[in-house]
Amino acid sequence: MSFIEVEGLTKTYSASLNALHHVSFTVEKGEWIAVMGPSGSGKSTLMNILGGLDTPTSGRVILDGLDISRLSGNDLARFRAEKIGFVFQQFHLVPYLTAIENVMLAQYFHSLSDEREAAEALARVGLGDRLRHLPSQLSGGEQQRVCVARALINQPNVILADEPTGNLDEVNEALVMGLLTELHREGHTVVVVTHDPEIGRLAERRIELHHGRLTEVSAAPAHEEELIDDLLKAVWHAQEDTGRSVMEPDAVPEFAPNRATFLLMAQEGLVQLDTGAITFAPRGEARARHVLRRHRLSERLLCETFGIDKDVVDEHAAKIEHSLSPQVTEKICTFLHHPQTCPHGSPIPRGECCPKK
Ligand code: ADP
Ligand code: MG
Repeated sequence: MSFIEVEGLTKTYSASLNALHHVSFTVEKGEWIAVMGPSGSGKSTLMNILGGLDTPTSGRVILDGLDISRLSGNDLARFRAEKIGFVFQQFHLVPYLTAIENVMLAQYFHSLSDEREAAEALARVGLGDRLRHLPSQLSGGEQQRVCVARALINQPNVILADEPTGNLDEVNEALVMGLLTELHREGHTVVVVTHDPEIGRLAERRIELHHGRLTEVSAAPAHEEELIDDLLKAVWHAQEDTGRSVMEPDAVPEFAPNRATFLLMAQEGLVQLDTGAITFAPRGEARARHVLRRHRLSERLLCETFGIDKDVVDEHAAKIEHSLSPQVTEKICTFLHHPQTCPHGSPIPRGECCPKK
């Protein structure tokens, strides 16, 4: 049995309107899925039912073995508090309570350590110095981070986030998505609603709703690592072209359409995005060097050994470079007598096998 089983979920608001129509899918424990689809397609309705905030007209949701469509009253409240952390697009903070009071309000198992725990949760989202601020004294991004702290306070298994970055600027979007990435890594099951395909790509799996029907369950992109390699390559190229090590996003045309992947790369310690500019972190630079080395050696190999034309060798190399292990790369380098430049004249980064000089 899966951690979450959604079976034939239907929600009817009026005779003519099915907000959800026989929706079925499963989510495994620790999985991160994105729910995508245009406005009005039933995403929020689905989330509210998953979180026990609304009931289906028919069908059921089994979460961690519990049929939540059968819960009511105290059982339902307890289920929500114990298992679910909700993050909404519209924040839903109580306006006359401070940040720490808003978080404490969500605490279900009250104890003497309430305040300390709430303060810790806020520190975790980077708001350790904003405990006594009212929502009106916080920016949108800060308010959303209070909501993430609130969602975490009961250590729920499942984080449900309904367009959590819908009202945020890019920097705060990155921060909030970074927090979700971290939570997923810690083992929480994450379901996030978004219509931003870039954010959807951060998830391991996407489901899509159209007019209340599940139209597509798409697998995670098999080539995430290759995409990261390509983006590292783009940063490297930009550095070569400009001779600078700190890149404005504009100088890397790949940045804008791949913001979420760059964010993922920052999370993984490959690049730094702190100031809005892009720089390599040491790990990223080492990986980029190796990617470039594989790419340019592949180009040399294809040109010299297989006589492939210089004008098209780039795309051929792009196909084989990802499959080269460090050992094979060294063999190719040695076979080609440690060439210094690619067929287009750009330098090939040196490797372990290359003569020192
Ligand atoms: P999404 O979150 O994908 O934008 P919703 O789940 O909010 O979509 O809404 C799906 C459909 O159900 C829409 O057509 C919306 O107008 C309708 N709907 C949502 N909530 C209600 C409600 N309480 N009463 C009547 N219709 C509703
Ligand atoms: Mg919605």
